[in-house]
Amino acid sequence: LFSRPCTFMLGAAKLEQLPDSAVPEVCFAGRSNVGKSSLINALTGTQGLARTSNTPGRTQELNFFMLADRLLICDMPGYGYAEAPKERVKRWTSLVKSYLRGRPNLRRVMLLIDSRHGIKDNDHDIMTMLDEAAVNFQVVLTKIDKLKAAEVDAVLARTASDLVKHVASHPEILLTSSEKGKGMAEVRAAMAALALP
Ligand code: GDP
Repeated sequence: LFSRPCTFMLGAAKLEQLPDSAVPEVCFAGRSNVGKSSLINALTGTQGLARTSNTPGRTQELNFFMLADRLLICDMPGYGYAEAPKERVKRWTSLVKSYLRGRPNLRRVMLLIDSRHGIKDNDHDIMTMLDEAAVNFQVVLTKIDKLKAAEVDAVLARTASDLVKHVASHPEILLTSSEKGKGMAEVRAAMAALALP
């Protein structure tokens, strides 16, 4: 799956613009700066494929990539800017809610959490949206190279206990560092299990 190229398909700012496809889809979500672009680029081996969401003024779009004609990857706009205007948060929420409800081919959301910060209130908010939309989600802890082994164990335990109240959560938490290439095989295996054969 990952030996074939991954290509940009389109960016959608409205529900009507979503690609019409029967190919299974995996979506990557997380707070801005969590390391989402770095992870997508590392997983697909394509530098510059996903661009950082770090520009506050940037259009909020769902970006779609096709992997080997077997899996669609959706890059959800980041959330949780400290100074996000209310209007922007409203637009994000409405786009994401309609996406989650109207996407029968969406198999899983990979929800990225910065291992140094753990789960924040706005992460719980999106988890609740996922519970309500009955969309399975799996937590991916990012930037584990910044923590000591004991700290990784602690954040893992805390995250697991935080997930108990979310019915749509996948029990397996993945540990990653895009910088060091750690955990890439595990995330790829999870994606491959959801892709077309
Ligand atoms: P996005 O806003 O979620 O797309 O985040 P980016 O991928 O742009 O990453 C945000 C910042 O975190 C950048 O400065 C990256 O270099 C850094 N970063 C991303 N992944 C890692 C990682 O695995 N380890 C470390 N130490 N830094 C990372």
